[in-house]
This record gives sequence, structure tokens and C-alpha cells, in this order.
Amino acid sequence: MSDAVKVGGRVNKEDQAPKLWTGDFYNEGVNAHDGLFDKLGEECGVFGVFGHSEAASLSYYGLHALQHRGQESAGICVADGESFKYHRGMGLVKEVFNNDNLGTMIGANAIGHVRYSTSGESKLANAQPLVFKYREGDLAIATNGNLTNAPDIKRELEKQGSIFQTTSDTEVVAHLIARSKHDDIVLAVKEALLKIEGAYAFMFLTKDKLIAARDPYGLRPFVMGRLGTAWLFASESCAFDAVGGTYYRDVEPGELLVLDMKTGMKEDRFSPIKQRAICAMEYIYFARPDSDIDEVNIHSARKRMGRQLAMEAFVDADVVTGVPDSSISAAIGFAEQTGIPYELGLIKNRYTGRTFIQPSQELREQGVKMKLSAVRSIVAGKRVVMIDDSIVRGTTSLRIVNMLREAGATEVHVRISSPPFANPCFYGIDTPDRKELIAANKSIEEIRQAINADSLHFLSKDGLLSAIGRQSNEPSRGYCTACFDNRYPTPLPEDAKVGCGCD
Ligand code: SF4
Repeated sequence: MSDAVKVGGRVNKEDQAPKLWTGDFYNEGVNAHDGLFDKLGEECGVFGVFGHSEAASLSYYGLHALQHRGQESAGICVADGESFKYHRGMGLVKEVFNNDNLGTMIGANAIGHVRYSTSGESKLANAQPLVFKYREGDLAIATNGNLTNAPDIKRELEKQGSIFQTTSDTEVVAHLIARSKHDDIVLAVKEALLKIEGAYAFMFLTKDKLIAARDPYGLRPFVMGRLGTAWLFASESCAFDAVGGTYYRDVEPGELLVLDMKTGMKEDRFSPIKQRAICAMEYIYFARPDSDIDEVNIHSARKRMGRQLAMEAFVDADVVTGVPDSSISAAIGFAEQTGIPYELGLIKNRYTGRTFIQPSQELREQGVKMKLSAVRSIVAGKRVVMIDDSIVRGTTSLRIVNMLREAGATEVHVRISSPPFANPCFYGIDTPDRKELIAANKSIEEIRQAINADSLHFLSKDGLLSAIGRQSNEPSRGYCTACFDNRYPTPLPEDAKVGCGCD
């Protein structure tokens, strides 16, 4: 599906009918958030290589390891010191790339991207890396995150005559670079970054340079790695393992790294750290368990969240089970702390694809294949503790609780390894409006009733922060917890908080 958006085959009417229940297992629903995965959407993933003859192939494997961060489109741009070659397409990394197109991408430096559209439409023009001409030559840009002031800047630039080709935030940065008074690309990038607000990990590629930058709050994860003498960059460290590389360090908030084919790497900054505010949801749900963010392993952090949850909200039960996949680590921690056996009470069918993440409604409507099963022989006649990482609208939790009951569970006690998710994210996570977030509109007892649980507890914010484990005197110990406490670390547009019932 590389050069045109293929929206799949014809869907017959029967397939479109809601199929929410079939015995013990649940088919993904037909609406955007109707299905099992009424979850938050990951943002995007970036991967970069500097100084390796197999840069395009490494990017392919790196992006494959980051596929959980975006499944709508994928792209790689490679540079050899003289020129550029790039390929982008709609679909999974393995669908967009093959030996033929990768074989033509010769060069030692590359940037790659997997996309889930948090802003901008779902279409090939928005697939990244975006490639532009600027006065010094070609420029490719890949980013993970969301720019909160992009609409304002775009309006201003359009008034001044700029014409935009895409609806992606990233093009706003390209225009700022193109309009810079600086000929030097590094100075032009710095100038552009100082005008934008929000959360981002940016990579810029010219024919002979790779520039990496992270927002001054460190909201989105961004790590550096090594493979021999080559430098690697990625949204998560699991991508380094996938290519045989090793983690080197995190890109610091406000940092700008310039890798030049003539002069090597220069560590620089475009901004001081404003306030370290790493996204706490990365630890709770988004990142892969084998990744480390800010030197904290995700699986271990989730296990500690489960242990902490057990200390805060013990309940006597026969089995503990986690909603796959992101809640399994927390469920193991809960079981270890309580001594209640951990069991695979819920099984996800791994081979149906993660259809919920595709943003176009038409694609979602075809995504009725995803299944989760309650294991009757494990839960029948048992008091079950069901661990999940978050509740968004509550529809998912209700369905899973009912699934466990239908499979014979005598009691279902729900424990959530994060505080109530009551505020939308403006930093690159696809969240519904506040009015759709169940925790923004109902008390915990009302949520318990809505999801048909025998009991319900959420992890406290203090418990969450101590479970992640980083010691710091910064606000919220250096994490963004805005979706729980409405304390957004960056300035937001005036209308962003309208309707808030908090604070
Ligand atoms: S608001 Fe929530 S999801 Fe968004 S960056 Fe902050 S912690 Fe992460």
C-alpha cells in the first residue's frame, strides 16, 4: 500500500453490524471507540541512524520495533552526503517496505517514522518523513509529538503568503525553517524550535547532517544509542535491541544534537530545560515493556505500580489477571505483593492486527477481527482481580468485566494501575474530549457501577510516582501527570482548558 491509500476491500452489510458479544469472547466494535480497545492512541515513533552503510535497513528494523507507536503509515529517508532518497507509504512497516525499495536506499544516514495521526488527516501526504526543498538543498523531517501552538503559527504564516501542502504540524516547522534569516540549517532549526510550543522529538536530515532535538520539557521520550561507530536515535530503546545496538543516553530536554559528516557530533542546546515533565503514560501504557525511558525499565516500573496498587487497595480473591498486553506487568506485581496467584484469565489473539489505531472510520469499520477471550477454565467459580492500566470511557472495562462474569467469575474486582484519567492530553496522545472521559464526569463509585465491577480502585498519583521510582524535587518528580491532575506543564492555547471541572 505504498503509493495510494488503499482502504481495503468491500465490506458487506453483515460485517458492519455491531458484533459485541459472542459467548466468552469479544469482537472489536464497529465504531471508533466502541471496541475492546477503547484506549488511548499512541503518538508516533521515530528512528535515526548516522554513520552506518546499512542505514535504511537498520531503520526498517528499528521502525518495526516501534510499530506499536503508530500503524497508519511508515517512511524512511536516507542521505549519502550528496543526495536524498525516500520512501513512504500507508500501512505497517512490513507492508510499506520490501527488498526492492530498501535496496535502492543507499546512504549512511537515515531517519524513519511510524505514524499515528494525532493531528492532521490520515493520508499519504502526511506520512513522514516529510521532505522539503529549502534554499540550501533538501530537508527531511520526522517527529513524534504534538505542537500546541501550530494552528496559531500556521494561521500567521498563511496570512504572510505561505502555502501548506499537508495538514501535519511538522510542515509548520519546515515553513519556519524556510523563512529563517539564517542560511545555516542548524541556526534555522534552532530559531524554528524556539517559536514552537508542545511536546516533541524531532529529527532533521540534510544531505550531510542529522539534527536531533527534544522539547524543553522532555515530554516525549527520545533516546540515543550506538552500533559500532554509528549513532542511533529512537523514541524507545527497544528499537536499539532490534538492530543489535546499545542504549547510550536519553536526549536531554531542550538539547540539540548535530551530527555532521565532516565534523562528527556536536552536543548543543536550543533551550534550557524548562521543567522536566516526561509523560507518565509512557510508563503506564504506551511504551514497550522492554524499553527503558530515563533509565527506568518499563516492565519493572509497571510491576512496582501493581505492587503499590496491592498495598493501596488489597482485596481477597482467588486469581489475579491482567488485561493484555500492557497490564500484565502490573498484574504480576499485584500478585507478587498479595500472594494471590497470577493467571492468564484473559487472552488476546495476537494475529488480527491492532485495528483500533487506524484513524479513518472506514478502516475501523473493517476492524472487527480483534478478539480477547476470557479463559473459562481459569476464572469459572473464582473471585477475580482484574488489573488494567487505565479507564478512558469505561466501555472497554464494562465489556471485559462482563466477559469474565459470563465465563463464570463469581466476583470481579477491578484495580487500575494509574490515577483516574480525567483530562485530555495536548502532547501527542489521542484522547477523547473531557466530556467523554468517564473519570471527568463520574465519581469512583459511579464508575464502579458503570463497569459492573464488585469493587474498583485506582492507583494514587503519589503511588504512581513512587512506583516509577525517579527521585526529584521537580513538580510531580519530573513527570507530566496532566491527564490525572490537570496541571499542564507547558502554556496551552486559551481554549484548551475550557470545560474543565478541575482545580
Ligand atoms: S497529559 Fe498525560 S498522556 Fe499527555 S503527556 Fe501528560 S502524562 Fe502523557
